[in-house]
Amino acid sequence: MPAKKGRVFSGARPTGKQHLGNYLGAIKNYVKLQDEYDCNYCIVDIHALTTLETTKDLKQNTLDMALDWLAAGIDPEKSIVFIQSHVPQVTELHTLLSMVTPLGKLTDLPTFKEKARENPHNINYGLVGYPVLMAADIALYKADLVPVGIDQAPHIEFTRETVRSFNYRFNTHVLVEPQMKVTAFPKIIGIDGVNKMSKSLNNEIELSATPELTRQRVLSMVTDPNRQRRTDPGNPDICNVYSLHKIFSSPDQVNMVNVECRRAGIGCVDCKKMLAENINKDLADLRARHDQLAAKPAQVWEILHDGADRARVIADATMQEVRAAIGFAE
Ligand code: SF4
Repeated sequence: MPAKKGRVFSGARPTGKQHLGNYLGAIKNYVKLQDEYDCNYCIVDIHALTTLETTKDLKQNTLDMALDWLAAGIDPEKSIVFIQSHVPQVTELHTLLSMVTPLGKLTDLPTFKEKARENPHNINYGLVGYPVLMAADIALYKADLVPVGIDQAPHIEFTRETVRSFNYRFNTHVLVEPQMKVTAFPKIIGIDGVNKMSKSLNNEIELSATPELTRQRVLSMVTDPNRQRRTDPGNPDICNVYSLHKIFSSPDQVNMVNVECRRAGIGCVDCKKMLAENINKDLADLRARHDQLAAKPAQVWEILHDGADRARVIADATMQEVRAAIGFAE
């Protein structure tokens, strides 16, 4: 096997069962990166606490997310897959990095302002320090690369600055400045035809849904709003069903929909049934793997615990260097 090009870190909050937006926007990319890089994929459950009102579903959501990741092809033989809170060294590094972080920089970040607007009654310290914890995640594993969408660029720049500040303050080079691996994540619109696919908006199609449920969700998708009757010509360019055809259907089918929709040669119901069938076909293997894993949750927890063991080895080594650089008593 050729030598890998570097170390990747990426984390995602435990949002439970994943949907097509998560899959097409992030998970497929995670799977692809595994062959070229040493990948560390982390379910960031501590981050989730900044906005969660209750933790009653946290454990189940963590398991459900891991199930989907593994079913989609994230391979624990190739990558380290683990839960953030299983490697508590990250909280120590978070505290240490917070000492070189000006508070104003954190409160100026657009994501903080947005979160503060969304959660006006719960602006906790964790929310302000979120980027520092993110920097700690990345720095702890000495990641060279972080796959991000362009909207995440300020956070990675923040991480780079934090690492530089730490290294400068303690006259060291122990922490690595990560690079961004900017990826054009496709924005997947939900079944409402307007908003980004999201569980909180109840407009998602779950990755591990049954074929029948998938069919129902696809059949309820909003289409070209100007197409009122079967005999009206439609415009696929403004129809989200067509956008998903372009991902899941064959070039011939995509072409057929593009032509026939415009001359009312195909009805929306038939168009959606075809899409549902293609989604179900595309996800059949993933869902079979999902069901096998879901029948053995102990095996999934074992994979996550094993991942944490491997992550802790890297984390311990980094923290020894960090403590020595600071000059803490041994
Ligand atoms: Fe959308 Fe298909 Fe209906 Fe055209 S035929 S409006 S692409 S669902």
